[in-house]
Amino acid sequence: MNILLIGPPGSGKGTQGARVAGALGLEHIAVGDLLRAEVAARTPLGELLKRHLDRGELAPDELVMQLVAPRALAAATKNGYVLDGFPRSAAQADEARKLAEPARARPQLVVYLDAPEKVLVDRLLARARAEGRSDDTKEVIRHRLEVFAVATAPLLAYYRDQGLARVVDATGSPDEVTEAILALATAEAS
Ligand code: ADP
Repeated sequence: MNILLIGPPGSGKGTQGARVAGALGLEHIAVGDLLRAEVAARTPLGELLKRHLDRGELAPDELVMQLVAPRALAAATKNGYVLDGFPRSAAQADEARKLAEPARARPQLVVYLDAPEKVLVDRLLARARAEGRSDDTKEVIRHRLEVFAVATAPLLAYYRDQGLARVVDATGSPDEVTEAILALATAEAS
């Protein structure tokens, strides 16, 4: 099964992606982690990406596609993938669809993790204190939420039109959210 996890910063995509992939034997592809690994490796590509990440802007589509597409297509030939943090824009979704359709790698389920802004900001500020991620400052958090609202949130309607989207309340405990997602995956698979 192939699953997309879409949600604003702080909605728990990374945590849930790892749990759901583990429970279902799927490959977890965490796009933010892939990008941060490039930055940490200090490659020329990483230097370029760092500028976007530190400002809370989306990384360029071409670079994101280069990192994500081969992994997702390969995983789809096995048990499937849980993609967290992709797509983040209509352009990425269209591009992904073009690649996935002929490869039979399309998602069967799109989970939209929903939480009010106050909850998201509180979680991100708590993470900032704990982990010190370079984009978890107050201003950059605010900007990431704006980028999400403008570029990514419209994907809910995009995938609803395809009959794939399900909204999950992301304000529950991590266990509650995992259970809700697994219930949707089980329903989809049967
Ligand atoms: P969050 O959702 O909290 O912002 P992520 O780790 O998913 O955390 O993403 C961190 C950053 O990585 C984003 O702000 C963005 O700069 C970049 N990024 C992640 N996914 C994508 C994507 N699909 N397209 C472009 N940039 C991305």
